[in-house]
Amino acid sequence: MISLPFRCRLQLIPLVALLLCAISPGLEGATVLVSGSSLVRTVAITFDDGPHDILTPTLLDVLDTLGVKASFFLVGSMAEKKPDLVREIRSGGHTVANHSQTHRSCLVLSAEELEDEIRKCSAVLESVTSVPVRFFRPPGGKFDRKTVERVRKNGLKLVLWDINSRDYTGVSPSYIANRAVRRAVPGSILLFHSGVKATIDALPEIVARLRKNGFEFVTLDEMFSAYTASDPFLLRAAEGLFHTM
Ligand SMILES: [Zn+2]
Repeated sequence: MISLPFRCRLQLIPLVALLLCAISPGLEGATVLVSGSSLVRTVAITFDDGPHDILTPTLLDVLDTLGVKASFFLVGSMAEKKPDLVREIRSGGHTVANHSQTHRSCLVLSAEELEDEIRKCSAVLESVTSVPVRFFRPPGGKFDRKTVERVRKNGLKLVLWDINSRDYTGVSPSYIANRAVRRAVPGSILLFHSGVKATIDALPEIVARLRKNGFEFVTLDEMFSAYTASDPFLLRAAEGLFHTM
């Protein structure tokens, strides 16, 4: 864990990426969201990848039982094959968001290829849900200047996280739960992956303990409800609350 003067506590990969972008000129107004307002005791649970045949329905059942709404960064090529699951995620009240079309690293793509990845994924998701996609998370959390530019150009906001559960490293449900609960602060965005069984097993404990600590769970749509990519007034008004570049 790295302590920084602003309220967000960042994991290493996003931090390095943020620093790389911060020293690039010409990115004024571009925004990378790593957390919501620290004034409200809410946290956003986010799941990357999928949808997955078996684990996504199981995950949705668990969230439903717990009464928690979350956010799903879906891969377009996978969503194309499972439109029913995309529809189910949306009808469950969760935020459906863009995790690129084929999950290739933004760092190896040309600007045109990256734009294609962004547009295709949004088109797939919007054709199924009929709801505009607002948020993009780069595969692996890796992004560069062109990523920020192309995401902005397509009317999306780039969303990272301030708490990485590290659930993709084979750790146990109790490790995942302890890490998430101990690090959560008001406005935290928690990174999980939808294809990890240990994450699903950890969720009841995470939710119970965070609720006991006074937290409520919100989707990214709710966390950034006063923040729309198409409204420059709201963008300026909200920027003081978020880490911006
Ligand atoms: Zn991913």
